[in-house]
Amino acid sequence: MGPNKTVFCQGLAVSGGIAIGVAQVREIGAIEAPEYVVAKSNIAKELKRLDHAVILTRRQVRRLQNRVDALDGEVAKELGFLLDAYQMMLKDSRLVRGAGIKIVNLRINAEAAIQREITEISSAFQSMTDSYIAARLDDIRDVGNRIIRNLTRKPIKRFSSAPKGSIIIAKQLTPADMAQIDPERIAGVASVLGGAEGHTAIMARALGIPMVLGIENLLTNVKNGETVIVDGSAGEVLINPDKTKLEQYRRRRDTIQRKNRQLARLRQLPALSIDGTQFQLMANVELPMELPTVLQAGAEGIGLLRSEFMFMNRNSPPDEEEQYQHLCKFIKDMNGQQVTFRSLDIGADKSHQGTIGELDDSAASALGLRGIRLALLNEGLLETQFRAVLRAAAHGPVRILLPMISAVGEVHKAKKILGKAARKLKRRKIAIPEPLPPLGVMIEVPGAALAADALAQVSDFFAIGSNDLTMYTLAADRANEHVAHLYDPLHPAVLRLIQFATNAALRARIPISICGEMAGDSRFTALLIGLGLHELSMTPASIPHVKQRIRNMDAAAAAARAALIMDQKDSARIAVLLDDFNNLA
Ligand code: PEP
Ligand code: MG
Repeated sequence: MGPNKTVFCQGLAVSGGIAIGVAQVREIGAIEAPEYVVAKSNIAKELKRLDHAVILTRRQVRRLQNRVDALDGEVAKELGFLLDAYQMMLKDSRLVRGAGIKIVNLRINAEAAIQREITEISSAFQSMTDSYIAARLDDIRDVGNRIIRNLTRKPIKRFSSAPKGSIIIAKQLTPADMAQIDPERIAGVASVLGGAEGHTAIMARALGIPMVLGIENLLTNVKNGETVIVDGSAGEVLINPDKTKLEQYRRRRDTIQRKNRQLARLRQLPALSIDGTQFQLMANVELPMELPTVLQAGAEGIGLLRSEFMFMNRNSPPDEEEQYQHLCKFIKDMNGQQVTFRSLDIGADKSHQGTIGELDDSAASALGLRGIRLALLNEGLLETQFRAVLRAAAHGPVRILLPMISAVGEVHKAKKILGKAARKLKRRKIAIPEPLPPLGVMIEVPGAALAADALAQVSDFFAIGSNDLTMYTLAADRANEHVAHLYDPLHPAVLRLIQFATNAALRARIPISICGEMAGDSRFTALLIGLGLHELSMTPASIPHVKQRIRNMDAAAAAARAALIMDQKDSARIAVLLDDFNNLA
């Protein structure tokens, strides 16, 4: 439209739909800081706040220095120099001095003063292309952000100042960032980093925000305020589209919305195949704000409540009462339908930003202290979760699901903690369900799928987590755009593990569901059903699509096609067989 040339960028199609809006470029590494006026009489107090935050930051950097001192090698040496420079910056630097002057002269709060100082320093050096200067600017930003984080100890509502209809453009967004996005305000998102099955992508789908990730040259092509189209279904981003393109995408957006409205009519109808087999379609949820969409979609229960989202964007973990209240919201709204509460699955791409303390580093690895591993090391944390669930279970049917299980012993340990939680509540004279709610495990580690027979003996139900199962089976990070081409749920190895676990559950006569993103993609429905799965849990917006697919499908024919697919050796052939079957419908 404008004088600028239209730029077309291709990325990964992550969250469907079309968004047309105005770019809000999120500065690399920036964190948001509120800005407000400080009364003259409070200036001294504000300077003291800044002082305290600087002292606290110095202490934190000192702790990092101690850790680095204990290491050997070149990298440790480099890190040592960097942290020394940070300490210098925190003692006497333009950043800290300048912020103090701004508090006095402009009468603004300390975090805003630091933020403004960072922006000023950055723009003063912006014209220089020297990589040494660029690295020093990053250091200044990092030190400034650490101070701001210490000043704003309460959660900041991210992007709250973005005007309605904004398209967020960023290098990377974390799942915690996404959890703070208001879908009423943010129309779409595009970023440089990220994979289609990471939790950032999952949150975008849950909120119904079109999103494209993995666009390498995004930040060099778009400026604040430019018109941007995000086509989350095709994985395309158009910057400065001309009039014709704008019109074309507006029409496509309207068609998608019309189709979704038509599908919404299926809400009251059962997920019944042509040959009369009944299936159960449930919802995956993260936050209470998703509940209206869950109900609108006609979900028959919650098949996965990701409790870790409750631990994000805060400085300390929620206590029993807060978790109980949180869970009660879901149970109340589901009105007698089952809610599957999954215990904390923090780690890998779901950061807890220090909520739990010392274990940060190991939990950051997908193979480290993630999920149940972290919870079993923090027994108190798991027991608190269990007490909250047991109390909430008085208000409606609840199941408890354990993430990242790899061994029978972990289930035994979790059961013991559940028993302890129950005894404590009884001592407090709080009514709890008798028998205790069903305790199930996620099948998302390849070893768990292969040991499904043994796990079925100690579990009340299974939920297949095909996102992690695919990632761990193929050693392809689900949140990394560079290996997105290897991340393939149709790989025979993944399908065999799903089949293996499903058969183990059917033999042991325990319920089994699938709650990975595969479950919400109607392209895969025939295959999953054909493998014997009857319960599918997915992002609410997918429920009508999957229901429509089921209502047009012969379940017996799907089983025959699944059997044929399971004889294949490569995923390309599997995809053809599946797509052919889908096209027959
Ligand atoms: C999965 O791994 O498939 C799953 C449902 O869990 P999450 O996406 O939260 O890791
Ligand atoms: Mg998982």
